[in-house]
Amino acid sequence: MTNSTSPDQRAAELRDQLHLYSHQYYVLDQPLVPDAEYDRLFRELQAIEAEHPELRSPDSPTQRVGGEPLSAFKTVRHEIPMLSLDNAFSEDELRDFDRRVRSRLADEQSFHYACEPKLDGIAASLLYVDGILVRGATRGDGQQGEDITENVRTVASVPLKLRGAGWPDELEVRGEIYLPRAGFEKINASAREAGNKLFVNPRNAAAGSLRQLDSRITASRPLEMCCYSIALRDDQQELVASHSEALEKLAQWGFLVSPLLKVVDDIDGCLAYYRDLLQQRDGLPYDIDGIVFKVDELAVQQTLGFVSRAPRWAIAHKFPAQEEMTTLKDVEFQVGRTGAVTPVAKLEPVFVGGVTVSNATLHNFDEIQRLGVMIGDQIIIRRAGDVIPQVVQVVEGKRPADARPILVPENCPVCDSPLEKPPGEAVLRCTGGLICGAQRREGIKHFASRKAMDIDGLGDKLVDQLVEAGLIETVADLFRLEASQLAELERMGQKSAENLVAALEKSKQTTLPRFLFALGIREVGEATARNLALHFTTLAALKSASEEALLAVTDVGPIVASHIHAFFAVAHNQEVIDALLAAGVHWPEIAQNVSAQPLAGQTWVLTGNLDRMTRSEAKEKLQALGAKVAGSVSAKTDCVAAGAAAGSKLKKAEELGVKVIDEEGLIAVLKQGGQL
Ligand code: NAD
Repeated sequence: MTNSTSPDQRAAELRDQLHLYSHQYYVLDQPLVPDAEYDRLFRELQAIEAEHPELRSPDSPTQRVGGEPLSAFKTVRHEIPMLSLDNAFSEDELRDFDRRVRSRLADEQSFHYACEPKLDGIAASLLYVDGILVRGATRGDGQQGEDITENVRTVASVPLKLRGAGWPDELEVRGEIYLPRAGFEKINASAREAGNKLFVNPRNAAAGSLRQLDSRITASRPLEMCCYSIALRDDQQELVASHSEALEKLAQWGFLVSPLLKVVDDIDGCLAYYRDLLQQRDGLPYDIDGIVFKVDELAVQQTLGFVSRAPRWAIAHKFPAQEEMTTLKDVEFQVGRTGAVTPVAKLEPVFVGGVTVSNATLHNFDEIQRLGVMIGDQIIIRRAGDVIPQVVQVVEGKRPADARPILVPENCPVCDSPLEKPPGEAVLRCTGGLICGAQRREGIKHFASRKAMDIDGLGDKLVDQLVEAGLIETVADLFRLEASQLAELERMGQKSAENLVAALEKSKQTTLPRFLFALGIREVGEATARNLALHFTTLAALKSASEEALLAVTDVGPIVASHIHAFFAVAHNQEVIDALLAAGVHWPEIAQNVSAQPLAGQTWVLTGNLDRMTRSEAKEKLQALGAKVAGSVSAKTDCVAAGAAAGSKLKKAEELGVKVIDEEGLIAVLKQGGQL
């Protein structure tokens, strides 16, 4: 608050702003600012109202739930209001909540806390009459929501008919409808391809998907519903005694409830749960924005009651926000291995998703246009899980007068070669090929990477150093490096220099699929490299293959075929390959006439301990040759590969007369298929 603004002026300002943001968020599903910004303003208003209670008007956002229902849907009245939750943003605030709860209870009234993740979707109510789903509704403003029955029916985890027994004639269940991350990424990827507007986050996508007038659109979105309460009518109070018991019943009747529910004794248990889930957050398949703690015993909940917006017996302990607002200071252009130029947003550093972020991807120029972003803009950054931070939206109405457009560069920022945008592609590319330092450098990093030549100890930073020091220009130069040259580099001692030379030597023994992948031919990933190797069996045959011959390889279409053909036609590439072979890079021969999937249709079982590789590596390699790798032996098993100390599976194979091979035999099969 500035000195010149009085508390009532500021409160009015905040109310207006929050009303606008809420309307955009709840009614239009088009948030203008990130939740973190909304929460900051909300708390500022709460603080003013706490100090000046006379300013707390009934229409204040602090006294209300959600937003008014959309008139396009029929309205549903909630017999029992659907409330929101109070928030805690720190351990201290959570302990304050616990103190408030206990201060309202008699000393002898003991209770537990139920802990569960706070799913980030939208609240919904389901009504069952005689065990049949008859109505689905949104929360709306808590008193009235929208009738979304047809849409709710399309959500696979919503039971249309209850299972088991013991449910009341009329049962109202509440929960969160959400979109798992994978579904969100998929929807946005196809929207990006079609040039449509993207959803900012999974919550927004779930809300947009659920409030569709055409339920076929909802059906096409992989929504899920996790249920977290029964709205108990006055005559149903005896049904369950606690929140955790209610969830158990819901699970028996066929609802999805959180498998992460835990009941703890006290607030320290809540904090331990919070820390544990914060660790697990990135690995969960759906977004959670915090933890909900609820007093478990319903009798205690009743004693505590609720205030206008939220119950007194529950709180949401929020996690660090995954979306934040910051300033776009500049845009830089990064050139990748294939010459693709990626615009990278340079940000005013901002704490988001638990870390400080100062760069975010803008994908490509189509994306810049779609976002309508300019340098100087306030933008929303999203960082969820280990995905690269993204610019998801421009904050409207906050563009400074001196904002500058982002100009499409005409020349490569690294080598100055002209850039081109092939028709139909969103990506701008440097035409410099290996003249371009950036492409060369990225190509070398790729060559050394684990799934390519797997050169131990040759990380990205070291490649940069080697190129900068002028020690390497192409990947073939790597094999000319001597320990004495390397030892002179910064942060590199004699010992590490010798280790690197040894690792380079070791990497010379490779496989044809790895070698082809390492060359970094456009559109040739690991799987394509493997298919090419198995199909042609020798490098010479592949190099001289026509585009037509290339099309005969599994998964190779005209575009990939043309990239491969063009790659081998470039004299420089040929020179580098010759130099690599001259340096001693080699691989075991692949037997002629093996089909691309020599073990296709076969079922294999791995058992016992292998010396040369882990079981999961062996499994991957067998799968690459087309085999299905099963966990147990049956009469349908084609072959069992048994390492040392194999037990019951080996015995069973012998009983059933299934073919058994030892590790040596397995290695021979893998070598033949080009996997070793
Ligand atoms: P909320 O999302 O903070 O918490 C209440 C909701 O949590 C419940 O209604 C329910 O839907 C959900 N929930 C998830 N798991 C639950 C569980 N296990 N048990 C009980 N409930 C569970 O509150 P809200 O009222 O829905 O929304 C307020 C929040 O929305 C704000 O804090 C803000 O972050 C966001 N918001 C953002 C904007 C914006 O412009 N970005 C505008 C308005 C609101």
